Amino acid sequence: MSGVWRVLLLGGTAEARGVAAELAGDPGVEVTTSLAGRVAHPRLPDGAVRIGGFGGAAGLARWLREHRIDALIDATHPFARTMSFNAAEASAAAGVPLVALRRPGWSAGPGDRWIPVDSTAGAAALLAAPEKCTLPPDGRVFLTTGRTGLAAFAGLAAPRFLVRCVDPPRPPLPPRMHVLLDRGPFTVGGEAGLMRRHRIDALVTKDSGGAATSAKLVAARELGLPVIVVRRPPAPDGVPVVADPAGAVSWLATLRGQSG
Ligand code: NAP
Repeated sequence: MSGVWRVLLLGGTAEARGVAAELAGDPGVEVTTSLAGRVAHPRLPDGAVRIGGFGGAAGLARWLREHRIDALIDATHPFARTMSFNAAEASAAAGVPLVALRRPGWSAGPGDRWIPVDSTAGAAALLAAPEKCTLPPDGRVFLTTGRTGLAAFAGLAAPRFLVRCVDPPRPPLPPRMHVLLDRGPFTVGGEAGLMRRHRIDALVTKDSGGAATSAKLVAARELGLPVIVVRRPPAPDGVPVVADPAGAVSWLATLRGQSG
């Protein structure tokens, strides 16, 4: 291979913006970041951006061929399961090398009171039986699983929810909730203050990993609160995984070296 390398970067995360920033100064690489278009005012990366779905794995494979993409980097959020499987299928179909950038998950430390569940539905089932998570019958729960997961909690008349998300949520929604529009990074002091002000009894979070939103876990530990943690969904087999933007950049450098 000679000339410029065309890279498609599946984004929507701080890590994807990190990769785009690191590759921006490389004249031998042309990066296009792809965003799903879920957020009204996304944080934009360096370089070219396209927005919207591809039309499944077949649509993505077509896009890769039509744009003569040389390498695909899946830097989507660890809970963007469909897109990661589509990337694996499209990579195989179009013969385009793929790497997955998956930030490590969080792990519980001393003093943490974590209750792992497999899904947001599992978290809702637990909240429907408050004694199982030592929640008072009419407790207050800080829900940070994002606005698209709120439907799972819509059937719960109790507890009362403090919901934090980037854009206003759409129905179906829990009947008793207060919405806070905000996005990370957050600080431990800020999170602890928020939980105290709203008299929060428990936190619900996905195991997103990363530093931008981990302060709530430290705050919950300091306040002695239980945390319901939604485990990550399965990821496709056989795709090489790196843990940070530097890993993705070095994977690309190796690939370019091998072809060169
Ligand atoms: P998903 O369930 O895995 O994907 C659903 C569909 O959305 C895909 O089939 C694809 O449509 C489209 N899509 C997803 N990511 C895309 C991307 N980067 N570029 C173009 N199309 C994309 O995804 P999701 O969980 O809704 O997440 C959507 C986006 O938000 C992702 O880019 C992710 O990185 C970001 N995000 C997600 C979360 C989360 O908790 N899930 C949190 C923060 C950020 P087609 O089949 O039509 O191609």
